[in-house]
Amino acid sequence: MTRDITIVGAGWAGLAAAVKATQLGLKVHLFDAANAPGGRAKSVAHQGQLFDNGQHALIGAYSETLGLIQTMDLQPQALFERQAMKWQYPRGECYALPQDAYPLKALRSLLFSKRFSVREKSTLLKPLFFSVSQALWGKTDDTVAHLFQGVSPKIMRDIISPLCLSALNTPVSVASANIFMRVLKDAFANPPQSCEFLFPRLPLSDIFPLPCLNWLRERGARIQLNHRIDDLQDLDPHVPAILAVPPWQASLLTHDKYPQWSMLAKHIKHRAIASIYVKGLRAESDSKQAPSSSYPGSLMCLNDHDESEDCVHPQFGLQRDVNASTRNSHPEGAEHWALIVSAADPNARQTIIENALKAACEQLKLSDVQLELCTVEKRATFSCDAHLQRPPCWIDSGLMAAGDYVQGPYPGTLEGAVRSGFQAVTQLVDASFVSSHAGNTSRVL
Ligand SMILES: Cc1cc2nc3c(=O)[nH]c(=O)nc-3n(C[C@H](O)[C@H](O)[C@H](O)COP(=O)(O)OP(=O)(O)OC[C@H]3O[C@@H](n4cnc5c(N)ncnc54)[C@H](O)[C@@H]3O)c2cc1C
Repeated sequence: MTRDITIVGAGWAGLAAAVKATQLGLKVHLFDAANAPGGRAKSVAHQGQLFDNGQHALIGAYSETLGLIQTMDLQPQALFERQAMKWQYPRGECYALPQDAYPLKALRSLLFSKRFSVREKSTLLKPLFFSVSQALWGKTDDTVAHLFQGVSPKIMRDIISPLCLSALNTPVSVASANIFMRVLKDAFANPPQSCEFLFPRLPLSDIFPLPCLNWLRERGARIQLNHRIDDLQDLDPHVPAILAVPPWQASLLTHDKYPQWSMLAKHIKHRAIASIYVKGLRAESDSKQAPSSSYPGSLMCLNDHDESEDCVHPQFGLQRDVNASTRNSHPEGAEHWALIVSAADPNARQTIIENALKAACEQLKLSDVQLELCTVEKRATFSCDAHLQRPPCWIDSGLMAAGDYVQGPYPGTLEGAVRSGFQAVTQLVDASFVSSHAGNTSRVL
């Protein structure tokens, strides 16, 4: 029985596993192929400025992620701008949750919204009834498009489709209705906090990955960055291990010894996300008709398009608090925005940039718009399809997998990654592959 544990991958899943293992009194040995922790959710330097490797947003329902951040003695209040869920549209009424203490906020907000007619709203009754019956009798999975069949095209275009794209990074035509409804349920389980948006005030690396690395080092963890594991034989066979690498890497590493598990990981499909960072000026005269943003971080729903697959137009715009995030001086009056294309066409970078610049001028009403950076992350998240068979956490005795793609209730998100990291350590300890010093988990085989 050992107290050592090896973790391969220092993304949010691997870091969550490392923190949990350390809390249980285990000796962590953490490897990552990159020169910095954070995986897909970290900051990158570009021309002297820091950008996130893709604009990230959390919701208040990400309880495990927020709890993990608090473990580092970091207060989410200081790291994130919390905003009530409110979607502004360049044209027409916004969609906002009421700021009161009563339940069923989303439903009430939709019922009272002037954006949709009574007839349009009534089309939501069927999926509402279906989802309640699904919760009660546990029907099998279906696509979001099928669940919302018959709902008015305007509600689909303005609410359901962008919500599904932002939550699952998967178009409604194939997205899993069960996982979509699960995210909605968690978001509206404990309002107002659970359904608030949390926008990072700092570069993503400063929000968790870098403080976490320090926290682990102070507690004796051995951390080796720039150290790729290419073969499971490179790991100590007597020490239980967690593979917290993306599915395509996990598949390669397990191919020879665990072909069945490897096949499941290999069959995971991915979706791209493009983040286009722009800056521009707002003319004084435009400020009244322009999207009103009392604080950088306002979320604009750029809904003037009808794409569902391989998107090339941004669906969202998020105003960035650039002084806090880069600590650089910027031209007086310039606004900085991140435009986001979920389920993006990974091969249409130039078109995506052109469309984003156009949206910044026409919909955000910025002038003198300049591109700061465009990142197209081809394998941003797994495609969260209905009926998808995700690989389990358990690969073999003493060998677990962690990562946003591993079986669990969440789509490819930070919360999914963090939960899977915790789960992998819990399973190792429960199966007594490691001996923990904490609580009642020190069973011996
Ligand atoms: C552009 C973009 C926008 C996103 N927006 C959001 C959002 O708004 N909200 C949200 O919740 N989520 C968002 N996500 C998803 C979120 O970033 C991921 O779900 C999460 O970061 C996945 O973490 P992970 O630890 O599972 O995997 P990863 O982050 O991929 O971490 C895996 C780690 O393993 C390392 N590694 C790989 N191979 C090896 C090897 N052989 N040896 C050693 N190390 C190895 C890698 O270097 C990496 O550090 C977004 C992602 C992207 C790309």
